[in-house]
Amino acid sequence: MKLVLLGPPGSGKGTQGDRLAAQFGVPKYATGDILRDAVRRATPLGNDAKRYMDAGELVPDEVVLGLVREALLAPEAAAGFILDGFPRTVAQAEGLERLLEERDVKLDAVVYFDVPEEELIHRLAGRRVCPECGAVYNVYSDPPAAPGICDNCGSELETREDDREETVRVRLRVYHEHTEPLLRWYGQTSLLREVAAVGSVDEVYDKLLSVAGRL
Ligand code: AMP
Repeated sequence: MKLVLLGPPGSGKGTQGDRLAAQFGVPKYATGDILRDAVRRATPLGNDAKRYMDAGELVPDEVVLGLVREALLAPEAAAGFILDGFPRTVAQAEGLERLLEERDVKLDAVVYFDVPEEELIHRLAGRRVCPECGAVYNVYSDPPAAPGICDNCGSELETREDDREETVRVRLRVYHEHTEPLLRWYGQTSLLREVAAVGSVDEVYDKLLSVAGRL
């Protein structure tokens, strides 16, 4: 299984990608998670990326491509991988194509998560994350057992800095401007599949399995 999950912020790529990765035993590489980890550890990369992320803007293509190159070189990625939140620009998609060609590897599919914009805004407003273990909840659709507390590790949940309303607006604009053109780009290949990513997490996962489960 060699998959790209494409979609706007809040479309559920991360949640669904985690399930798919666990069920099929392939690594999932989420550039947002890798970058947030670098920010937390205050590495030079993290310090540089933070200002873009806090503003809701994209981190430069060369930086993100470097991270993905490293991830795809890992031995675990040889049998398959799921890319979540990458590529996000046509330049990144071209860079990915070159990386895969170098390794003589082909993608099986690019799955687009289609969600109406009002639903995205509602979901992002309800998203809470665990700063310790990275678990993701939603106060409306997937709340923790005890309000504000992580089910896995008992830590206090937080709102992601970039899920605040003004930043969400910027992220959606950036998505329309830079990432949406990838639908046309991948639409010219035979790779693009679409999932109407609305409904419960289980319902969306069933739809995802029906397009990606046989790859
Ligand atoms: P995400 O967790 O995917 O919503 O990503 C959070 C933030 O990380 C984004 O708003 C960007 O600032 C940055 N980021 C993640 N992936 C990429 C990417 N492929 N290209 C550029 N910036 C990215």
